[in-house]
Amino acid sequence: MQKQKAPIPIPASVCGIIGRLNRAGYEAWAVGGCVRDSLFGRTPHDWDLCTSALPEQVAEVFRGERLLPTGLAHGTQTLLEDGKPYEITTYRVELGYSDGRHPDAVAFTPSLTEDLARRDFTVNAMACHPMLGLADPFGGQADLQAGVLRAVGDPEQRFSEDALRILRALRFAAVYGLAVEEHTARAARTLAPRLALVSRERVTQELWKLLAAPDGAAAARVLRQFPEVVREILPELAPCMGFDQHSAWHQYDVWEHQLHAMEAVQANTPEELPLLRLAALIHDIGKPETFQLGPDGQGHFYGHGKAGAALAQAMLTRRLRLPTQTCQRVVLLVERHDVPLTPTPKAVRRTLAALGPQAASQLAAVHLADLQAHHLTGRNGERLRGFLAETREFAALLEEETRRGVCVSLKDLAVNGADLLKLGYAPGPALGAALNGLLARVVDGSLENRREVLLAAAVDMKRAAAP
Ligand code: ATP
Ligand code: MG
Repeated sequence: MQKQKAPIPIPASVCGIIGRLNRAGYEAWAVGGCVRDSLFGRTPHDWDLCTSALPEQVAEVFRGERLLPTGLAHGTQTLLEDGKPYEITTYRVELGYSDGRHPDAVAFTPSLTEDLARRDFTVNAMACHPMLGLADPFGGQADLQAGVLRAVGDPEQRFSEDALRILRALRFAAVYGLAVEEHTARAARTLAPRLALVSRERVTQELWKLLAAPDGAAAARVLRQFPEVVREILPELAPCMGFDQHSAWHQYDVWEHQLHAMEAVQANTPEELPLLRLAALIHDIGKPETFQLGPDGQGHFYGHGKAGAALAQAMLTRRLRLPTQTCQRVVLLVERHDVPLTPTPKAVRRTLAALGPQAASQLAAVHLADLQAHHLTGRNGERLRGFLAETREFAALLEEETRRGVCVSLKDLAVNGADLLKLGYAPGPALGAALNGLLARVVDGSLENRREVLLAAAVDMKRAAAP
């Protein structure tokens, strides 16, 4: 086997597909995200290919194999090999973008450079071949090494063609820790209003990927740098920007405080990271409308958790159209971010019983992030550090109680409805109330979760309730 000349390791399966197209007389390259990720030292999540072969010629090369017409109108087919999908797309150019989001038409071209020129950013406009090495006509590798995100061609034109690219710019800058090049950044700000043309689903998808960036500081930096874009996709956050809190607890305005909280928030799993970052980013969204200036010159925000929950609800469901469960969870975290978490076993068990282990631990994470984003060296620094220590203690107790598997729900209770029926309880709401009454006493520690103990308590309760 010949030695690869590519600057990145191309999997054997991809080399095989490229080789077969080459032997049939066509050009073929690995392209886009997989090249960018490999050069960046990350494992690509998929490998896309581009080729000079027309779609019917690709079909001819892979005749009898599993080739699916996944985007035939745009020249894309997906080859399934060993259960893995490989997108193979004919070199193409895009013609006209009258609606600001889709090309009016695509045309095939024999030129790799033309195909790379239609791509959004230089780091995404590279192709790689096992023997021919890197094709990089726009300097993507140098930009990647210098940590720069730059549009291919004229950024104003590229963002006017497809406004989603503005959000993709922020996403790539956040995920790869790149600085958006000056002209590209200026065009993104100027053309941000065109994001209104993009479908909500695509906006949400990009935002979610941005929020999942490995480095929270990079995500916060990008959002801080592009308030025009944030205002466009999340106008509910606009009042937070520059909103002076008039508070000795804070050294930041509401928006800056939320950015710091987003940067600080820690997740237990990678899946929950974007959700927690979103909750941290909007947790004080209710502050501007609840602001009151006290006689002492201090700002107060009574009820801002509840007010924020209502704003968040509308924003997450109607604007971002996130899945119901995600909306409910973020709204809950916003609503409760300001309710103190007392580090006692009883309070921890109550929180567990009310929210369940996952939401309870996420709530502790949001509390910690919120506190960390306060003025820790200011006048109230000592008290803030005290709250932080208490919240950390709460989180540790929560972990301990969850690990011990303490009883926090009816299904953990050592008796059930059938047991109470046998004691003469009538079926119906009273039975449910009795079970919940027992659970509440187990949760607060006044009853042991043992069958005999609970049955005896149930008998007493019934006797006490008798006329
Ligand atoms: P990831 O798959 O990690 O989200 P990616 O760069 O692979 O990132 P895709 O959406 O899979 O993104 O697109 C593959 C390639 O197609 C990109 O690398 C880029 O070259 C090009 N591309 C995607 N979307 C656009 C767009 N809106 N405008 C221009 N080129 C695009
Ligand atoms: Mg991709």
